[in-house]
Amino acid sequence: MSETGLHHVTAFSGPVARNLDFYTAVLGLRLVKKTVNFDDPGTYHLYYGDAAGRPGSILTFFPIPHAAPGRAGLGETQETAFRVPRASIGWWTHRLVEKGVRHEALVQVFGEPTLRFRDPDGMMLALVGVDEAAAPSAWTGGSVPAEHAILGLHGVTLLLAEGEGTAAILTEVFGFTQTGREGSATRYSGTAASGRHVTLRAVGAFLPGRQGAGSVHHIAFRAADDAAQAAMAEALRDRHGLGVTEQRDRQYFRSVYFREPGGVLFEIATDAPGFAVDEPEASLGQALKLPPGLERHRAEIEAVLPAVA
Ligand code: ZN
Repeated sequence: MSETGLHHVTAFSGPVARNLDFYTAVLGLRLVKKTVNFDDPGTYHLYYGDAAGRPGSILTFFPIPHAAPGRAGLGETQETAFRVPRASIGWWTHRLVEKGVRHEALVQVFGEPTLRFRDPDGMMLALVGVDEAAAPSAWTGGSVPAEHAILGLHGVTLLLAEGEGTAAILTEVFGFTQTGREGSATRYSGTAASGRHVTLRAVGAFLPGRQGAGSVHHIAFRAADDAAQAAMAEALRDRHGLGVTEQRDRQYFRSVYFREPGGVLFEIATDAPGFAVDEPEASLGQALKLPPGLERHRAEIEAVLPAVA
C-alpha cells in the first residue's frame, strides 16, 4: 500500500515579494518551483517545500498584487499546519517574535504543542511539535538551522457545517482513519509522515467562506500513480455520486479535482514526476519555468509578471 496523505495545499496571497520573503526568510522553506498559473499565465504560481519538494511538504500560492482579503467560513480550510521537532517549538516562538510575527499562546491540540500565527495576508498557520528529529529532507539552505527546520506539512483543519460526508470521502476513498476527537474537531490520518492529518471542525450554521488573499483555494491528496488516481476518481463517481474533472497535466504531477460534500475543493495529485522534471534538484526554484505549451509566450509572460526580488 502506498503512502496516504496530503500532496500539497494551494492558497491565494497578496504581493509576491512579501509572500516569498515570509515563506523563505521567516519560515525557512525552499522555493522549489517558480512558474505561472497554467490557467492564468499572467499570474505566478510559487511552490514552497522541503529540499526536494516531496509530496506532503508543499504549500503553493497564486500571488495577486491587489487581492482583497478573504473571509474565513464554512467550506474552507481554516488552518494549515507544518511539523517541526517538538524540542524546536521554543526556538520557533522566539523566531516569530524576532521577525515581528504575532503568534497566539502555545496550546495542546490532540496532545501536540501547537503554535498558531498568521502570514502577512492573514492566512492561518500553525507549527506543531512532533516526536521526530530533524529530517535529512528538510531544507537547510535558508536561515533556519537544520535542527529546527520545518519537516513538512502536518495537516489542515477544514471548517464545515457537518463532517459526515467529508469523513466518508477521507476514510472510504483516501484510506484515512479516525485518530482523535476534541470538542467539535475530529482528526483523520493517513500513513505518510508529512501531510498526514485532516481535521474536520463541524460547527453547524455559520457564514460561508469568501475566497481572497490568505484563503486556501484547494487541498490535494496523494495518489501513487495514474491507476491509483483513476480508482479514487471512479469510487468518487460511482459510490459517492460526485463529479470529478478529467485529468489535467500540471507538469510536476497530474491532477483531478472535485468539490467534496462539505464544500471544499479537493484535488488528487500523482506523486510523479515531481519538481526535478524540468530543472536539476540543486537549482530548484531559481529560474522561471513554463510548461511546453506556454514556452513560446515566455517574453510576453515575463513582461507582465511583477519582479520578485
Ligand atoms: Zn493543486
